Amino acid sequence: MMALSPSDIARLTDLRRDLHRRPELSGQERETAARIAAELGVLGADRIWRDLGGHGVAAEFRGAQDGPTVLLRCELDGLPIHEIGSLPYRSERDGRGHLCGHDGHMASMLGVAMALSARPARGRVILLFQPAEETGAGAQAVIDDPRWPEIRPDYAFAYHNVPGRPLGEIGLRAGPGNCASRGMQILLTGKSSHAAAPEDGLSPGPAMAQLMAALPALGQGTIADPDFALSTLTHAKLGEPSFGIAPAEGELRVTLRSMTNDRMTALMEAALHQVETHAGGLRVDVAWHDVFRAVVNDTAATDIARRAARQLGQSCREMPVPMRWSEDFGRFGDDGAKAALLYVGAGRDHPQLHNPDYDFPDALLPVVTDLFCGIVADILGRDPV
Ligand SMILES: [Zn+2]
Ligand SMILES: [Zn+2]
Repeated sequence: MMALSPSDIARLTDLRRDLHRRPELSGQERETAARIAAELGVLGADRIWRDLGGHGVAAEFRGAQDGPTVLLRCELDGLPIHEIGSLPYRSERDGRGHLCGHDGHMASMLGVAMALSARPARGRVILLFQPAEETGAGAQAVIDDPRWPEIRPDYAFAYHNVPGRPLGEIGLRAGPGNCASRGMQILLTGKSSHAAAPEDGLSPGPAMAQLMAALPALGQGTIADPDFALSTLTHAKLGEPSFGIAPAEGELRVTLRSMTNDRMTALMEAALHQVETHAGGLRVDVAWHDVFRAVVNDTAATDIARRAARQLGQSCREMPVPMRWSEDFGRFGDDGAKAALLYVGAGRDHPQLHNPDYDFPDALLPVVTDLFCGIVADILGRDPV
């Protein structure tokens, strides 16, 4: 692989800022995907797949000899959050922003594509630009695509930038890396009545009041504990704003979180048990949303990333506990790849992910491009052909 020149890095920075201006929401990444596919074509990919699991794009770069497949993954989607601030490349779309840094993750992968103008000695590299990460749907949708067997990797790597950690520090964690999480939507339906005669109806109010205490109480332990569970009330609605009607309908939303997938199963059962216990004669409808499985990082893949980072002189940190936030990258490990998600510091005082003033730090672009090229060279050989 070729090292990037200062003009390459300047081009990546421009690309990143251009992507930042035009964020698209999960599942709607049509323009972004078209832009990425065009860039990958210019950069000489041997093969490009489009519309993978939605708007996903993948590019293949082949070595001269057979060998393993290394997949590097980034995300196409922005967030339904209005960006604030005065950046010259601020989002041009009201209510949408690249406020998780996926613009930077994409630009890093395009940096790898530039470096792959000199191919690895063997095997192949797949650069995957995955749709719909923020909803937890995209990785599985890509894996469910009928063309996935053409792509299926032996190794898979991705990174997320992490505000609050020193800029460029490479965080590593073999084993559980990110929590499982899922949204629980609970609809409670009774019968409305005149507010003067509530006994003629059946209000979800009392059940909601009990569940608003009981569901958060299911959380227990700290993130250092494998039994860690968290249940966060995120929304509550009872009837319509009025004074004359005792309501018939109520809705609660809770986000469940746990370190392991098994613990999530138990937490879901406990939450459903609470709902049944408190529902009385109400009709109960439960729906699950934004389902993320835990990310469990493979030890061998983590070792490869550590070796590559050290060889480049990048500072590494062994993370003592997993991240509480979720990532759908875990699906690639579940699918059989030796997979590792890396946690790259975005700066100690950097605004947090999903904050309205967040902006990906461009200084990470060469750091991550070098790291991923080092990982590819470690697995597929250093000698360009
Ligand atoms: Zn995010
Ligand atoms: Zn993200």
